[in-house]
Amino acid sequence: MKYIVHSDRYKKMRYNRCGNSGLLLPAISLGLWHNFGDDVPHQTKVDICTTAFDLGITHFDLANNYGPPPGSAEKAFGRILKEEFAGLRDELILSSKSGYLMWDGPYGEWGSRKNMIASCDQTLKRLGVDYLDIFYSHRFDPETPLEETMRALDQLVRSGKALYVGVSSYNAARTQEAYALLREMGTPFVIHQPSYSMLNRWVETDGLLDVLADTGIGSIVFSPLAQGMLTDKYLHEIPQGSRASQGKSLATSFLSEENLIRIKALNQIAKERGQTLAQMALAWVLRDKRVTSALIGASKPQQVIDCVGALDRLDFSEQELMNIDRFALD
Ligand code: NDP
Repeated sequence: MKYIVHSDRYKKMRYNRCGNSGLLLPAISLGLWHNFGDDVPHQTKVDICTTAFDLGITHFDLANNYGPPPGSAEKAFGRILKEEFAGLRDELILSSKSGYLMWDGPYGEWGSRKNMIASCDQTLKRLGVDYLDIFYSHRFDPETPLEETMRALDQLVRSGKALYVGVSSYNAARTQEAYALLREMGTPFVIHQPSYSMLNRWVETDGLLDVLADTGIGSIVFSPLAQGMLTDKYLHEIPQGSRASQGKSLATSFLSEENLIRIKALNQIAKERGQTLAQMALAWVLRDKRVTSALIGASKPQQVIDCVGALDRLDFSEQELMNIDRFALD
């Protein structure tokens, strides 16, 4: 059946300014790391993306290597762009990244100019678009001069292949350096993509969030649900088909007896707030004004609907925050 876009899609979502830039991002964005490879039926991917868009999620996050196999998530999304989202390109913010292993040989990963430019060209072909809204250096390359990686990002903007650029998982010190380099080149560094959740707070302790605030860089935080641990799905068992059951990136060792006790206590706090645990986990990352968007993943449309429900209650009392810390911090 032909997809007809919802006319009230912009009613519920909030759009936050990404740092000091002109770019507005939805408070909740959708990432295609898992569930968009060749191992998932295409219709499931369509249903997840159209549900998200109908709820005002305008931003879809990709990387060259998302699959399996690497590249297949971009191809699948390219098909959705051509079929369901035809004519909607100007309503969408598409991002991709380069840095992890994508092709054989010495140029298939990391942060050389050779890798970054070729990878971006490949991504544009797979997606079937002329430009990306955001292109990231996916990880810091300790062997390549940072100036070379930043110059590659600068070139992508100047050649019209990316509108904005950012980095992912760079620590505070490297982010500061990257900022200075890009500033000198005249290409604004608009966004950082780090991991962040109630259970994973390195961005606070490392000082990254402070650097982002000082430099006016926005942030989109990945795995805010700790890959599903901060939802109600693992409270009683490891459900068939879940990420933990598939031996993918979420090891069952994270679901230890001790962690489950903490997650159950957090679930109780969420219930008292009238939210699901997923909703509270998203509201929690968004409570910090330095966070522009929470970047979720989903294996079913219903999960996206549940997550967007977080917007109904974003405030926290001091007491709630203290109770969360009591169980979420080691
Ligand atoms: P999340 O922490 O949001 O985990 C997503 C998983 O949680 C889903 O696949 C699903 O698990 C489960 N889930 C989601 N919503 C619900 C719900 N309402 N109720 C119950 N379960 C739910 O994020 P991801 O780890 O998937 O990462 C999100 C995105 O961040 C990625 O797609 C990617 O774009 C980006 N990312 C970037 C990285 C980087 O290095 N820059 C690294 C990792 C991610 P299940 O599949 O088991 O149903």
